[in-house]
Amino acid sequence: MTPPGADTVLVRHADVGVKSGTVQTAMERRLRDNVAALLEDRDIDATVERRWSRLLVHADAETVDAATDAATDAFGVQSASAAVVVTPERDAIVDALARTARRAVEDGDVSAGESFAVRARRAGETDAHPFTSKDLENEGGAAVFEELPDPEVDLDDPDRTFSVECREKEAFVFTEKRPGPGGLPLGSQSKVVALVSGGIDSPVAAWEMMKRGSPIVPVYLELGDFGGPDHEARAMETVRRLADFAPNFDTRTWCIPAGDAMTLLDEAVGPARMLVYRRFMYRVAEHVAESVGAAGIVTGEAIGQKSSQTSRNLGTTSRATDLPIFRPLLTMDKPAITERAKEIGTYRDSTIPAGCNRIAPDYPETNATPEIVGRAEPDGLMERAENAVENATLVDI
Ligand code: ATP
Ligand code: MG
Repeated sequence: MTPPGADTVLVRHADVGVKSGTVQTAMERRLRDNVAALLEDRDIDATVERRWSRLLVHADAETVDAATDAATDAFGVQSASAAVVVTPERDAIVDALARTARRAVEDGDVSAGESFAVRARRAGETDAHPFTSKDLENEGGAAVFEELPDPEVDLDDPDRTFSVECREKEAFVFTEKRPGPGGLPLGSQSKVVALVSGGIDSPVAAWEMMKRGSPIVPVYLELGDFGGPDHEARAMETVRRLADFAPNFDTRTWCIPAGDAMTLLDEAVGPARMLVYRRFMYRVAEHVAESVGAAGIVTGEAIGQKSSQTSRNLGTTSRATDLPIFRPLLTMDKPAITERAKEIGTYRDSTIPAGCNRIAPDYPETNATPEIVGRAEPDGLMERAENAVENATLVDI
């Protein structure tokens, strides 16, 4: 629940805090801009201010809840709290705590016998306030106790927490810390080409890179008879969801015509077909990366998930490019990836066999050496990769 009178969001950042001074400042500015862009994208009228290694979002009573949710969609945010701001005085703080508890009861939010704790922290000089955080916890706790039905104090594992953050010029009272994604602000790392297939894995992998600060350049290979419009629609749909987290970044998707290359593979390559396809795919990604200045490629591959993803095959196919291939899902099981996709909002239960099942050979090579794949590669295939990128369509999401 949101405290009565709340109009401000207290935003805490994650890994930004472990950086040196100048890097931290630059990252905080980026985070501020990203949060501001999320607010604007959702038509929330609020402003963002950078203050003491936090961000403050100045909203109003109507918008504070939506503004808090928007902040928790920014990469680099650890948590966000809708807070009421009061003067940093004992009575004002204790009053705000009591009012917050009363509102929770009025809203039917609290049941009898629930346990609670008041947690206070004071920042600034030790003599900045004529009270300690312990004083606030004791007096605030007594005031809250009066308001709740048959309450119990539990400092270790309370059902409900009332929190105070007391600064020199103002104090913040809040009841919840909504979790953000953590990580680093988007744009604080170089961009990467994200191979998105319309399946479950690839958007999760792309999201994980975004979480570490890398903007993505989505690339979809249109496989002609071996793919289908349903795959493409699904791929675009997942990119659209990813773009919700990045309204101030370019998420236009490179749609690459690869049907001819697939026909060639189907006719000319046997057990190593999928591996040759992978190499082609990486080479396509490399050409896109060169053209947009991306630092690497991200895929949704995981060890052993498919025959082309055995540890040996991943090593062999990776040689198609000098760029790093990031695989954030490398050690994850499918159920965990699916769970993650649901949390992110890119999952849709689908019977479409996404990815490249239709070009898989009956008896795929699982232990390929570079020599095996080299021998299997049809002449001129890699040239087609460059040509396909030249004929790409940029799809505005
Ligand atoms: P996904 O892994 O995307 O959920 P999938 O498991 O059916 O779908 P795989 O065969 O596992 O697909 O493909 C491995 C990875 O290769 C994908 O995660 C994606 O990064 C990339 N990829 C596969 N097909 C395509 C495609 N048509 N366009 C772009 N990237 C693709
Ligand atoms: Mg997969």
